[in-house]
Amino acid sequence: MSEYFEVNDDSLERKYKNCDQHDGQLGYKMAEHSDRWTCGFCGHTEFKK
Ligand SMILES: [Zn+2]
Repeated sequence: MSEYFEVNDDSLERKYKNCDQHDGQLGYKMAEHSDRWTCGFCGHTEFKK
Protein backbone atom coordinates (compact mmCIF):
# COMPACT_ATOMS: atom_id res chain seq x y z
CA MET A 1 0.00 0.00 0.00
CA SER A 2 2.84 2.38 0.76
CA GLU A 3 3.55 2.91 -2.92
CA TYR A 4 0.30 4.85 -3.14
CA PHE A 5 1.58 7.35 -0.63
CA GLU A 6 4.78 8.36 -2.29
CA VAL A 7 5.77 11.84 -1.26
CA ASN A 8 7.36 14.06 -3.81
CA ASP A 9 9.41 16.66 -2.01
CA ASP A 10 9.09 19.14 -4.85
CA SER A 11 5.31 19.12 -4.94
CA LEU A 12 5.12 19.17 -1.16
CA GLU A 13 7.27 22.28 -1.14
CA ARG A 14 4.97 24.00 -3.59
CA LYS A 15 1.91 23.41 -1.39
CA TYR A 16 3.29 25.51 1.41
CA LYS A 17 4.67 28.97 1.77
CA ASN A 18 6.46 30.45 4.70
CA CYS A 19 4.46 32.77 6.97
CA ASP A 20 6.00 36.24 7.07
CA GLN A 21 4.65 37.09 10.53
CA HIS A 22 7.47 35.43 12.48
CA ASP A 23 10.35 37.84 12.04
CA GLY A 24 11.55 36.05 8.96
CA GLN A 25 12.02 32.76 10.75
CA LEU A 26 11.61 29.76 8.54
CA GLY A 27 9.52 26.74 9.47
CA TYR A 28 6.19 28.51 9.83
CA LYS A 29 4.46 26.93 6.91
CA MET A 30 1.18 28.24 5.63
CA ALA A 31 -1.32 25.70 4.37
CA GLU A 32 -2.82 26.21 0.95
CA HIS A 33 -6.57 26.52 0.56
CA SER A 34 -8.50 27.09 -2.64
CA ASP A 35 -8.49 30.87 -2.31
CA ARG A 36 -6.03 31.65 0.47
CA TRP A 37 -3.03 30.62 2.53
CA THR A 38 -3.35 30.28 6.30
CA CYS A 39 -0.69 29.97 8.97
CA GLY A 40 -1.44 27.26 11.52
CA PHE A 41 0.78 28.97 14.09
CA CYS A 42 -0.56 32.52 14.22
CA GLY A 43 -3.68 32.32 12.07
CA HIS A 44 -2.34 34.79 9.52
CA THR A 45 -4.30 34.57 6.29
CA GLU A 46 -3.11 35.63 2.87
CA PHE A 47 -5.60 35.68 0.06
CA LYS A 48 -4.46 34.56 -3.34
CA LYS A 49 -4.39 37.13 -6.06
ZN1 LIG B 1 2.29 32.73 11.12
